[in-house]
Amino acid sequence: MTDTHSLDNVRIVLVNTSHPGNIGAVARAMKNMCLSQLYLVAPRKFPHDEATWRAASAGDILDNAVVCETLDEAIADCHLVVGTSARERTVPWPLLNPRHCMEEVYREAGAGHRVALMFGREDRGLTNEELQRCNLHVHIPSNPEYSSLNLGMAVQVMAYELRMLQVAGELDANAMAEWDQPVAEAEALERYLVHLEETLYDINFLRAEAPKKLMLRLRRLYQRTRLDEMEVNILRGILTSTQYWVRKAKERGEDGGQEG
Ligand code: SAH
Repeated sequence: MTDTHSLDNVRIVLVNTSHPGNIGAVARAMKNMCLSQLYLVAPRKFPHDEATWRAASAGDILDNAVVCETLDEAIADCHLVVGTSARERTVPWPLLNPRHCMEEVYREAGAGHRVALMFGREDRGLTNEELQRCNLHVHIPSNPEYSSLNLGMAVQVMAYELRMLQVAGELDANAMAEWDQPVAEAEALERYLVHLEETLYDINFLRAEAPKKLMLRLRRLYQRTRLDEMEVNILRGILTSTQYWVRKAKERGEDGGQEG
């Protein structure tokens, strides 16, 4: 089935950009490729003449840009979060090349899901913590000896791949729309992970001295799974019930011999 859709569900999120010229270059790359949603997380200098100058005829993208203080604000209502990285990171995450990743993005956006494509700082990219907020990572297979592209150029590559899919109009954008429940938003997953951590402490599965990577591994598991809203509600219900019974047992002095 052929379905060509607008790319309005895809937002470009620039984290902590230093140079306003790069923000302008991104706006131009976006407009050239029919993208329109720009989110700026704590930009160092914005608005700025340099950004306006580099944007050329894409000033409207800058005018409509949403400026946020935190990454959480920028991605809270997104159903799919994708992080870009110029190099390999310590904890492996599902990693795709731009072509395959943009196919996923295009399909999801076509199904009405809001997608965030996150880009990092010019000097040090995205932090590990920011990358761990993502469902997927995408890397442009650049020269291993000089792997880091200019920010505007990196956005251009992703935007071009999306545009190619739009022009070709061959990808079945409705494939995802047939799921029986809406996919959970990023903020709902964050709330679930807080609840999970709290409960794991309550049942003494997680202790201050336990391996620090446990929550990270669980986070990666859930990010990979793409929970829907009902699944999040069921899991939250299990946690609430677990906490209830643990509290009851503790009130009765039954700590299962695990205390201390
Ligand atoms: N020195 C930084 C690179 C920053 S480049 C580092 O080593 O991480 C600025 C941003 O452009 C990156 O955060 C990323 O969003 C994007 N970018 C640059 N090169 C890229 C590549 N090869 N693949 C994917 N994104 C890239």
